[in-house]
Amino acid sequence: MSLFRTLKNAAAGLFLAVFISGCFSFSSLAASLPGALDTIEGSLISGWAWDASNPGQPVEVTVTVSDSSGKAVSEMTTAATNYRADLAAQGRGTGSYGFSVSMDWSSVPEGIYTVRAFSNGQELPGTRRYVNGSASGSARSLGVFKITGYCPCDACSEGWGRHTSTGAIASANHTIAVDPGTVPYGSKVLINGVVYTAEDRGGGVKGNHIDIFYNTHQETRVNGTQYQEVFLLA
Ligand SMILES: [Zn+2]
Repeated sequence: MSLFRTLKNAAAGLFLAVFISGCFSFSSLAASLPGALDTIEGSLISGWAWDASNPGQPVEVTVTVSDSSGKAVSEMTTAATNYRADLAAQGRGTGSYGFSVSMDWSSVPEGIYTVRAFSNGQELPGTRRYVNGSASGSARSLGVFKITGYCPCDACSEGWGRHTSTGAIASANHTIAVDPGTVPYGSKVLINGVVYTAEDRGGGVKGNHIDIFYNTHQETRVNGTQYQEVFLLA
């Protein structure tokens, strides 16, 4: 056997070993997953949880809702015992590990809330935001974006005026220009308490940058450049 061949076999063996250990750690991670917070649909907050080492024993789940200052406004505890066909199909014991709790959003002020679920002292994956207000729904943080403003003037819109790249006519408190590769056209986006629609693009708008449409150039100057957390509404 040539040296080259030996090296090649050794490399193949190493690759196989890495591949197998990769599979192993993936499957053991999946099997030990304690559950997840899956959905918020109106008042209904749902997910699943189990103790993989003791699948016959239902576990308790605590769901917490906290406001934007981090203060808990609601805490609900339930047993994860609802049958879910998807969990059974994944080979998780009896499949009876679903949970859901009901949150009365009308009992708390408008705002953005964080919903978490815990089981056996462990936070379940799937923590999400909920926007409680006129445009309520489950929301996902897209991170902090650079926020600028533009108006129909020639300097801002290069002669396009109120005509956007999607054909929509731009309006204040509604239109934003985005990088469609980062924020797809048609997305409803919450910035600083206002829900906008992604319906325009701009030459200088790339990645985590959003340009907000204003009626006057004066407003674009007053608002300047800001850095804000941006939420995508589901
Ligand atoms: Zn302008």
